[in-house]
Amino acid sequence: MAAMTPLAIFKRTPGTNCGQCGRPTCLAFSVAVATTGVDPAQCPYIDLAGLDLATAGQGGADPSRERDLALVAHLQGKIASLDFAAIAGPLGAVWEAGPPDQLTFPYLGQAVRLAKSGILLDGMIPEDPRDAILLYNYVHGGGGRPPDNNWVGMESLPNSISKVRTLATYCEQRLARLFTGRTPAAIMTLAQPLGVRPGTGTATVEMIVPVLPMVPQYVLFWDEEPADGFEARIKVLFDRHVLDFLDIESLLFAAERMAERFERLASACGQNG
Ligand code: SF4
Repeated sequence: MAAMTPLAIFKRTPGTNCGQCGRPTCLAFSVAVATTGVDPAQCPYIDLAGLDLATAGQGGADPSRERDLALVAHLQGKIASLDFAAIAGPLGAVWEAGPPDQLTFPYLGQAVRLAKSGILLDGMIPEDPRDAILLYNYVHGGGGRPPDNNWVGMESLPNSISKVRTLATYCEQRLARLFTGRTPAAIMTLAQPLGVRPGTGTATVEMIVPVLPMVPQYVLFWDEEPADGFEARIKVLFDRHVLDFLDIESLLFAAERMAERFERLASACGQNG
């Protein structure tokens, strides 16, 4: 039988972060149960019905996912002391007094509800912990200089030269393949659920994608020109102050996520159409 994952265990806890199990959060407790064999019964409120206790402590099948979940639990602890009311404005978020008090903001067209006890994405616990890591990192930074329409390439950001190829592989080339063969109007229609704004340059398509409220990404697409031997090309630009809001790794992940969102939207269009 497959081992229980931290997420599966977390779903059995009430999510109240009461601390009676000796862990600061239900998520931290769930990671400990799944990866180090902590007895799940240490939580007096957990739903043990049908839980396979023989496999609950054997660890998950995906070590990187387990590491990500442990990092989520760590970041959740780091934001516990933040003043949400004070940082909502600089993050472009809305503060709701609660309890629990929480920040709401869009993330690639999805509605984020971020409280100190956890995150909901369109009303659901994020399936991929890397989304939670990105969102906690964004909030933990507390904001910075707002975007001012001065766009730069990844190569112009500090300590990013080695990341340029990663951006090309995980974002730009994927978008180029996806956009090739579509008209500019079709591409803009595809992008509408993300809340994009049109850009102002002379590329085939230019759009500003609000990945997070203070982390827009400027996407330029030049269509292929077979007669002249030019392949389709995408260039993604960032606000010059973007590192006020995300570290470089989180920024790369945000760009990758943007490409994935486009792919899912195109897939949904294909299925619907
Ligand atoms: S896992 Fe249970 S005991 Fe631990 S914080 Fe959550 S509700 Fe409280």
